Parts: sequence; C-alpha cells; structure tokens
Amino acid sequence: MPVVTEERARGDERRAVLDRQAARESSARTYARSFPIVPVQAEGMTLTGADGRTYLDCLAGAGSLALGHNHPVVVDAIRRVLDSGAPLHTLDLATPVKDEFVETLYELLPPEFARSARVHFCGPTGADAVEAALKLTQTATGRSGVLAFTGAYHGMTAGALATTGNVAVRAPLAPPALDVTRLPFPYPYRCQFGQGGDRSAAASARYIADLLTDQCGGVRSSAAMLVEPVQGEGGVKPAPDAWLRSMRDITTQQGIPLIVDEVQTGVGRTGAYWAIEHSGITPDVLVLSKAIGGGLPLAVIVYRSDLDGWSAGAHTGTFRGNQLAMAAGAATLKYVAEHELADRATELGTRLTTALTKFATEHASVGEVRGRGLMLGIEVVRPDAEPDALGARPAAPELARRIRANCLRNGLIVELGGRGDTVVRLLPPLTMTDAEADSVVERLTAAWRTAEHEGDPA
Ligand code: PMP
Repeated sequence: MPVVTEERARGDERRAVLDRQAARESSARTYARSFPIVPVQAEGMTLTGADGRTYLDCLAGAGSLALGHNHPVVVDAIRRVLDSGAPLHTLDLATPVKDEFVETLYELLPPEFARSARVHFCGPTGADAVEAALKLTQTATGRSGVLAFTGAYHGMTAGALATTGNVAVRAPLAPPALDVTRLPFPYPYRCQFGQGGDRSAAASARYIADLLTDQCGGVRSSAAMLVEPVQGEGGVKPAPDAWLRSMRDITTQQGIPLIVDEVQTGVGRTGAYWAIEHSGITPDVLVLSKAIGGGLPLAVIVYRSDLDGWSAGAHTGTFRGNQLAMAAGAATLKYVAEHELADRATELGTRLTTALTKFATEHASVGEVRGRGLMLGIEVVRPDAEPDALGARPAAPELARRIRANCLRNGLIVELGGRGDTVVRLLPPLTMTDAEADSVVERLTAAWRTAEHEGDPA
C-alpha cells in the first residue's frame, strides 16, 4: 500500500475504535476524553498510537509505571511465571511468587517499621487499600471518625471518596459515608492562613494541634489521620518534612493511628524509596499500590502488628492473589533499589525543575513550579490578573486545558490536577533519559507558548 494510503487507513481505524468506545463506554470515562489516542505499542517512555503517532508519556499509568512501559525485567518476570505453569489465580493463599514479593517488600521498607509489621493484600486498587486501612484502624480504636486533608485524594470507593477533598467528585455521595474532619494541608502558594513560605506549614500545624487538643474544638477522637506525603491529584503539593513530623507528634500524643497513603509517592518517585524517609517518620499504617505491582494491579497495607485485631474475613476480595502483578512488582521493587532510581528521580526532577523555573521567569501564566523528585506540578494562572498579597494569581482552567491539548498535539501526554484542574502534572518513569527529559521541557514549553497565544487565558 502507498505510504499516504496506509497512514490514512491507520487513522481511519483509530477513529473507528474511538467512535465505538464513545458509543458504548460509560460517560464517566476520564483519560479517554482528554487523550483520544488508541495505544497499540509501548516501550519505556514512548507510547505509539494506532495511527502511528508516538508520544512521550508523562502520565505513565497514573504514576504506576516506575520503569516505564514494558520494561524487560518486568516482561521477563511475567513470562517466567507464565512459563512455570504456576496457578495465576490463588485467592490469598501462600505461593512462592507471593513469598518472594513479601520478602522483597520487607527488605526495602524502613527496617524499624518492617521489623514488626503485618501486610494485608487488598482488592487490587489503591482505593480498596485505603478502605482496608480505615477499617483496620476503626476496628483497632473502636472509633469511627477520620482526619483527612484539604486537597486530598484517596480513591473512588465510598470510604476513600469521603476522605477525598474535591467536592465535585464527592458530590454524588449523600449522606457522607464517613465522619470526616477536614484539616488544612500546607499550600504556601495559596495559603489558607495568608502566610507564605515555611510559615504556611507552621500555621497549619498549629491550627491542627490546637483543634485536636481543644475539648471544645468540636472534633471527637478519631480512628485515624490519613495523609499523602505529596498530594498528587490535589495539585502536586509536597508536605514539608517538619510539618509531617508535627502530624506524627500530634497523632502519637493523641493516640490516633497515622495512615500514610504512599499509593502515588512510593517506590522511588519522590527521590527517596518511600516518601516517609524524607521526614523520617514511622507511620502506623502504610497504603501501597500503583508502582508496587510493576504496572499490574496490586495493593497492600502494611501496618504495626498491634493494630492487627481484626478478624478473619474482615477485608476480603476475590482478586487478591494476582501472581503476575506480584512477580512484576517484585522485579520492579528490586530494580528501583539496585539501580538507585530514587536518586535518579531527584536528579531528573532537578533537571526538569531548573528548566521549567527558567521558563516561569519569562511567563506570568506560570504560577509556581513545585514537587519532589519526579512528581512535579506547574500551576497555571491568569497572567493578566493582579497577584494577591502572597503573589498568587487566580487559576486559569481554560488555559490549562489548552496546554494539555497542545502537549498531546506535540506528542506529550500530561495530566492536570489540583484546584479546578489548573496544575499540569508530570509523572514520568524513573528510567527517563536526560534527552527525554529535555524533550519533555521542549514540547511542554512550546505547547504552553501556543496556548498563551490562542485566546483569552481565563
Ligand atoms: N491514593 C492516592 C494518593 C492516589 O493517588 C490514588 C490514585 N490516583 C489512590 C489512592 C487510588 O488508587 P486507585 O485509583 O488505584 O484506586
């Protein structure tokens, strides 16, 4: 077939698949709307669509592909299980594959935490692990209420959703499935307390300590505090280390278990193997998913053994024994450790941040470049509006959407998050090369410039 005709045929096939999807799939589909591509091949950071176009993937399975797409060690691990004839479906039974996954995980967890920790295999999503963590701590404490944060995201099942901050996604739930007390997460760029820099987190910690120790504060003693070390969906907001240590101190004093949700931050992404290592805190419960399955579905909670008071069957689920995910996950966990990819995430994060911060100095529509390691966010604001007392401009949702669309046109997949979806989020694989990182900056800044010139930035 002549090249032009072949290209057209591939384009037509892509269109047909997308049309069938639009006709049959739920109107609640998400990524499929923002990224109308039909992926057919992938390697590392590159995704190829049915029409032959290629993309640098800075979404990477919503942050779950630490080693990128189809990494050889992951593919080999999966192939080895398939070739061995081992059962693929094993409920929560013990298997050599599971044993190796748990051994690997325990070797890589902070030793003082792993020493007496228990692990529970959950239904294979982050949300189900959050549900399990809530149920575990509710059972252990005999309390029902939960402390969660503004901007938090913990998943889409009823309990996890009740702890999520975004009211737009929470709205269909009435009445709330959980008694949640909302606490202020540090957000210096748009500080709730009108404080910039470190003072923002200090004000938040002070408010929380006061609220939780005041008999007249209106908050009943809670079953748990649930926190992300870096809020991802909430707009890539890192919790300052000193603030997280304050949360640990407050919860310890109050006898409230601290659940740290490392679904997105775990396995090297933030520049430490686990994000809790930055602050040095030891949680009572750690929620893990995404990267621990090497790109396949897997979720666990790891927790202090004295919380293990729930009974057999307290949190079950049919698909808790995904052998392929455990093999892919163990291979990923080892590879990230052996190749020191957490350090590499720091290096690459600095490379991207430096370039994007330089871009920001010339573009008033960049509110802030922030993040940790390879979890980066760029706040999109209205360049024409007056900054407030802290220097923040109003968010620019339409401009943010145009930037995402232009990125796709330039062969770059980026997602939005944060307030009004106005933070461009970068979650590339930790295996990204320097050249790929530079190309991400080039494509993103070109997309941003075009979007600025395309119309009213509001
Ligand atoms: N917690 C955090 C911090 C997350 O980022 C996510 C997913 N983005 C979840 C929980 C929920 O995970 P899942 O989508 O697998 O249910």
